[in-house]
Amino acid sequence: MPHVVTQACCGDASCVYACPVNCIHPTPEEPGFGTSEMLYIDPSTCVDCGACVSACPVGAIVPGHRLPDDQARFTDVNAAHYDVTATGDARFPVDPARRLPLAPIDKPRRLEVDAPLSVGIVGSGPSAMYAADELLRHPQVSVTIYERLRRPFGLARYGVAPDHLATRSVMRLFDDIAGNTRCEIRLGTSIGRDLSLSDLRDRHQAVIWAGGAPTDRRLDIPGADASGVLSATALVGWYNDHPDHDHLTVDLATSRAVVIGNGNVALDVARILTADPESLADTTISRHALATLRTSEVEEVVVLGRRGPLHAAFTLPELIGLADKGIPVVVDPADLTDVAELEVDDPTTRAKLDLLAEIAARPIPSGRRIRLAFHRSPSAVETDADGTVTGLTVTHNRVGADGTLEPTGVTETIETSLVLTSIGYRGVAVPGLPFDEARGVIPHQAGRVLDDGEPLPGTYVTGWIKRGPSGFIGTNKTDSSETVTSLLSDFEAGLLPQSARPGRRRLLGLFA
Ligand code: NAP
Repeated sequence: MPHVVTQACCGDASCVYACPVNCIHPTPEEPGFGTSEMLYIDPSTCVDCGACVSACPVGAIVPGHRLPDDQARFTDVNAAHYDVTATGDARFPVDPARRLPLAPIDKPRRLEVDAPLSVGIVGSGPSAMYAADELLRHPQVSVTIYERLRRPFGLARYGVAPDHLATRSVMRLFDDIAGNTRCEIRLGTSIGRDLSLSDLRDRHQAVIWAGGAPTDRRLDIPGADASGVLSATALVGWYNDHPDHDHLTVDLATSRAVVIGNGNVALDVARILTADPESLADTTISRHALATLRTSEVEEVVVLGRRGPLHAAFTLPELIGLADKGIPVVVDPADLTDVAELEVDDPTTRAKLDLLAEIAARPIPSGRRIRLAFHRSPSAVETDADGTVTGLTVTHNRVGADGTLEPTGVTETIETSLVLTSIGYRGVAVPGLPFDEARGVIPHQAGRVLDDGEPLPGTYVTGWIKRGPSGFIGTNKTDSSETVTSLLSDFEAGLLPQSARPGRRRLLGLFA
C-alpha cells in the first residue's frame, strides 16, 4: 500500500528529495508550495519504498497499512490532491505526464572561495537551525548561534503544543545540527543587551537575523486591556514553560473561554484547555499549567472566526486532528449554509468544508467541548464595575466570496470571563536594522536585508521576521536555504565585509 503523509507534516520537504520516483508534491520548486497546508503522496506512483519515512524529521509519513484510525482520513486527503476536476484539468499544478522522475536537487557544490567564513546567527529557532544546517555543508564555514534564552530551538520548544509530540521531535534534528563541531551555540546571550549588532559584525563576516516574530498582534477593541484578556502567545508560553510567561496568572474558574481568531494556534489553545489534564501529564507541559488545568472549570471553548468556514485559518490536518481524535467539537449548521452548495475546486478546502459539515451533523457532545463559531467579529470586551471580564460582544458578518466582511447589524454578547486573542504573531523592530512597521518584518531581497532599497553588506534575515508569521516549522528550510544561497554567493563575489576578529569558541553542555 502506498505511503501517506499525515497530520504532523512540517513541510520541510526532506521527503521530496528522498523519494526515488518524485511522488511527493508540491515540491519547493512548484507553485503552491508556500501556501500548501501539507505535502501529499501520489498513491498511483508511490513505490512503497519507505525512503520518505526515514527522511521526515517528524515521523509524519506512514505506510498505508499501518495508519492509525485517527489518521485514516489522510489516505483520501493525499489521493485527492492528485485527482482531476470534472473538466479534466489536473488539480495538481504539474501535469503528472510531464513530471520528472526525480525532484530537482542541486549537487552540493564546493564554494569558489577557499577562505574560512564565519557566520553569526541571531536566534536558535527553526529558521536559524535550518540556516546553520545549510551553511555547515561547506567545510570552511563556522557558525555561532546567539540565543537570548537558556534553552535553544525557539518555537519548536516554546510554540509547539505539548501534545504534538511528533512535531516537537524535530528538536532531535536541531540537536544533531547543533552538535556539528563547527557550530557553537551561545545561550543566554541577548543581542542588544549582552552584545550589540556591531559586536557581531566585528566577529563575523556575515550575520543572519533569525529572531522570529516574538510578540502578538494587538486587538484594538474597547476592553482589550482588561485583566481577563490574555494573548494566545502568552498562554502558549505559559503551558510550554517559556521563561517570559511562566508567571502568567491564568484564571480557569470560568465555564467558558473565548478564543478570538481561528488559526492553528487558536486550535492548539482550545485543545489544551479542553483536554483531560491526565492525558497531558506525561508530556512536556509545564507543571504550573498542569496544576491549573487540573482545577479548571472550563466546559466550553469558543473559537471565533470573523469570516466563514471557507476562509477559516486553521488547516485541514489540524481539523482532522480534532475531529478524529475523540475531541468533542461543535459546529452550528447555520454557519455552513452559504458554503454547503459552493463549487470548490481545491480538494483541501473541499475536504475541510465537508469535514465541518460532518461535525455539524453530529449530536452535540456532553461535557467539555470546542465550539467552532464563524461570521463573528469581536467588538467589545465587557467588564463589571471592578473591571472583571463578563463577556465578549461580537458583531455578525456576511462574508463575500472574496473574503470581505460586511456587518449585518446583529450583535450578541457571549458570556465569559476569559478572552484569549489569537490573531497572529508580530515581529518587533531590531535596533540598527531597517523595519517595515506595517508588516512587522525586516525588508529584504532573497534574504539580503535592504536599507532604503540597497543591500546592507553582510546582513541577512530569515524566518518569520523575514516573511511574516506564516507556514509550518519545515517551511523555514526553504526560506533559510534562499537566505544562505544569497549569503554564499555574496561571499564568493567578495561582497562580505571583513570581520575585525573572526573566530569561534565552543560552549558545551549548556543545552542538554
Ligand atoms: P493565523 O493562521 O494567521 O490566524 C490568525 C487568525 O486571526 C485568523 O483567523 C484571522 O482572521 C484572525 N484575525 C486577525 N485579525 C483579527 C481581528 N482584528 N479580529 C478578529 N480576528 C482576527 O495565525 P496563527 O494561528 O497565530 O498561526 C501562525 C502560523 O503558525 C500559521 O501559519 C499556522 O498554520 C502556524 N501554526 C501551525 C501549527 C500546526 O501546524 N500545528 C500550530 C500553530 C501555528 P482572518 O483570516 O479573517 O484574517
